Amino acid sequence: MADPAANFSVEFFPPRTAEGRTRLDRVHAELAALGPDFFSVTYGAGGSSKEGTRGIVLDYRAAGSELAPHISSTGRDLDVVRELLRVYRDAGIRRIVALRGDLRPAHLKTANVFYARDLVEFIRRESGDHFHIEVACYPEIHPESPGYAMEIEYFRRKVAAGANSAISQYFFNADSYFRFVEACLGVGVDLPIVPGIMPITNFARLSAFSEKCGAEIPAWLARRLTDFGDDQVGLREFGDEVVSELCERLLVGGAPGLHFYSLNLAGPVRRIWENLDLSQRR
Ligand code: FAD
Repeated sequence: MADPAANFSVEFFPPRTAEGRTRLDRVHAELAALGPDFFSVTYGAGGSSKEGTRGIVLDYRAAGSELAPHISSTGRDLDVVRELLRVYRDAGIRRIVALRGDLRPAHLKTANVFYARDLVEFIRRESGDHFHIEVACYPEIHPESPGYAMEIEYFRRKVAAGANSAISQYFFNADSYFRFVEACLGVGVDLPIVPGIMPITNFARLSAFSEKCGAEIPAWLARRLTDFGDDQVGLREFGDEVVSELCERLLVGGAPGLHFYSLNLAGPVRRIWENLDLSQRR
């Protein structure tokens, strides 16, 4: 059984169109009925807008949900970050997800990189302990990482800068998560690490995403998903089963919650939530 304080959350990204926003409002209402601990809203992820984040955060907060806005920074836009922190604090928001954001390879080589750790330090300097700060982590290692041990070391430093808990990149191999948590404990990093969960709804999109972010689709799973071809219903049912089993294993193994990458869809999150009876598990 999961920790009694298990935390279940759902991530949205800001839609590009007015129709997308109307759809997201319906998705938010449907998922809010499940009672997640909070919704998070990405900031410029995968080329999506940064401007849209604030509006969605404030609107859904006004509708009564707990919100955790994501913030990333290049280090040259700290006035924007400062203003966001002020607006969010005034709106009663207590949780922020602090990220570096993806950089172009050229930027990585030439610029003075402003890492997530620098942003965590900035938020602490600006806002003291007002915000619970979430940071990202990568059980299968960030694509730019120089190696496993350095990944853990950089994560340790980021946490030491003032993070309260972490949300992981998604994965389909529970052992990668348990090993990562163990390695963190080995260097004294014992904050809650909530696994990020990606529902399976579309194999082509999942493959493209996974390639970019360094998440592995195990060979057996890729093969089974390929075999569904155009059978979207079969793929969906199989995907729900695989992801629900993964979540069950994680919770039974002691994961302190689950963070769902909803891709702005209610159905997959709701089905997994109901399969696992999450409302009764905290
Ligand atoms: P960092 O913790 O700064 O790490 C980035 C890389 O740099 C890692 O490989 C790390 O090992 C290495 N590193 C760290 N410190 C140093 C150092 N001092 N010297 C050399 N190398 C170092 N992106 C968005 O743009 N918007 C979002 O809203 C968003 N939300 C996300 C939510 C979650 C839960 C996750 C897992 C990712 C999200 N991302 C988002 C993607 C994220 O921004 C990218 O993965 C980005 O490339 C790394 O961000 P980070 O915060 O983990 O960076």
